[in-house]
Amino acid sequence: MFTLNTILRPHILTITPYSSARDEYTGKEGVFLDANENPLGSATPQGDYNRYPDPHQWAIKQKLAPIKGVRPSQIFLGNGSDEPIDLLVRATCTPGTDSILIMPPTYGMYEVSANINDVELIKVPLTPDFQVDLDAVIGSITPKTKLIWLCSPNNPSGNLLQADAIRTILDIADHSLVIVDEAYIDFASTPSWTSELDRYPNLVVLQTFSKAWGLAALRLGMCFASEELIGVMNKIKPPYNISAPTQALALEALSREAEKDNMVTKILAERAVLAENLRSLPFVEVIHPSDANFLLVQFDDAKATFDYLINQQVIVRDRSKVKLCDGCLRISVGTAAENERLIETLRHMTTEDPATQSTLVSNS
Ligand SMILES: *Cc1c(COP(=O)(O)O)cnc(C)c1O
Repeated sequence: MFTLNTILRPHILTITPYSSARDEYTGKEGVFLDANENPLGSATPQGDYNRYPDPHQWAIKQKLAPIKGVRPSQIFLGNGSDEPIDLLVRATCTPGTDSILIMPPTYGMYEVSANINDVELIKVPLTPDFQVDLDAVIGSITPKTKLIWLCSPNNPSGNLLQADAIRTILDIADHSLVIVDEAYIDFASTPSWTSELDRYPNLVVLQTFSKAWGLAALRLGMCFASEELIGVMNKIKPPYNISAPTQALALEALSREAEKDNMVTKILAERAVLAENLRSLPFVEVIHPSDANFLLVQFDDAKATFDYLINQQVIVRDRSKVKLCDGCLRISVGTAAENERLIETLRHMTTEDPATQSTLVSNS
């Protein structure tokens, strides 16, 4: 039986949160002399930014809830996904005592956040086809394992994790939070785990405005979980964690969901073209299947290819030193023109010795 209170750090249960001016008076009308704001306006040429924003972002949550099929009270919004990742560690893991479980190769922030908080890492690598090694995971969970991180579609491999494996972990790990990071879910062929929130009180789903919505610069991450856990995260977050411009622009974006869907359709079509063109190159060894907006591609000489591309000002991500990603570069799907430029650059490389070429260019 899962009980949130046994997973939280004991002092979190009794903590008194900061009470902001906007928490204490929630009316919209009146003379506001309670928050030490500047009554005259802002030092910007345009726009009024002199008032603190809604600390709970209710307008966004009201609009987002029906889109995601959850209740507003099941939503936490953070300064990027980074904020809920860190808050989940701090809410549950006592430094030097508790642990989190990750499955490399995966997104780097889970490990960084654990390290910052002096929390032990249990690493259970994915299988060579980037799926959950279920027996190894189950065998590695200890009573101190507070968080189990799953990334689906996974970064950097791009694939969805098998739903059966995620479900088994949700069933078995009843003394941990099981977090499914769905940063790339809009590009995937399966529905979100958010539909299972009422069934699994230990489930946490992360999504973001940074990828499909095209709003990486705003820094807005979504976290969906039980009302009880969201309440705890609200208690320990910085009071005004989402800026007013971010809230306003996110609201506008949410009224234009079709625009997001259009972009996703285009990116998926480009992903297929990119994969096909990469497949025609003799020095491309594997194009891993992707349910995301990027491809993990194995080259016969990843380092030389990476260097050659950089010299031609085509920048991809070198993942060749990452576990199970030997020889792999991670390539984001760009516009049609950008993808063509990548492919043309790679075709040009075939006619020359890549290593020599990169030296020549860097010396010029
Ligand atoms: C890009 C990405 C995110 C998004 O991070 P933000 O802080 O919301 O920009 C989260 N998780 C994974 C796995 C990602 O690749």
